[in-house]
Amino acid sequence: MIRIGTEGIQMEGSMTVRPHHALCARFFVGKGYSEAFVQHMYATLRALNDGAVVTLTDGCDAICAGCPNNRGGICEHDEKVRAIDRRSLCETGLAFGQTLSWRDLSALMRERIVLRDALKTVCRDCEWIALCESRREAEKER
Ligand code: SF4
Repeated sequence: MIRIGTEGIQMEGSMTVRPHHALCARFFVGKGYSEAFVQHMYATLRALNDGAVVTLTDGCDAICAGCPNNRGGICEHDEKVRAIDRRSLCETGLAFGQTLSWRDLSALMRERIVLRDALKTVCRDCEWIALCESRREAEKER
């Protein structure tokens, strides 16, 4: 569970995360659906990077909590994002309901999707794919 207050986001137990959001987080450069969403994303990433344990969900998560596309707990692009989540799980061998550290989730996404050039397949319908692909190319060269 997370609490969003004036001091930012505090964690209690594990945070829920859509699997593909570990990819969004990796390539996030301060762009998003609204300024409020961008600020929420920064705060959520700080909490996740602060040693968070996450449980993989097939519904809206800690990041969706600040998104204007979140309509009462269901994403406006539900079908598309669920398909991206399913492909993310397929590539990493993970499953909905699984709990692991954010650090391990990020490392698996990097190893099985980013470095294997699977991003353009996993995220093929996403409006942000061009930006993430360019960032992925830069990451591979590092
Ligand atoms: S677009 Fe949908 S899946 Fe992505 S953050 Fe917004 S509500 Fe969540």
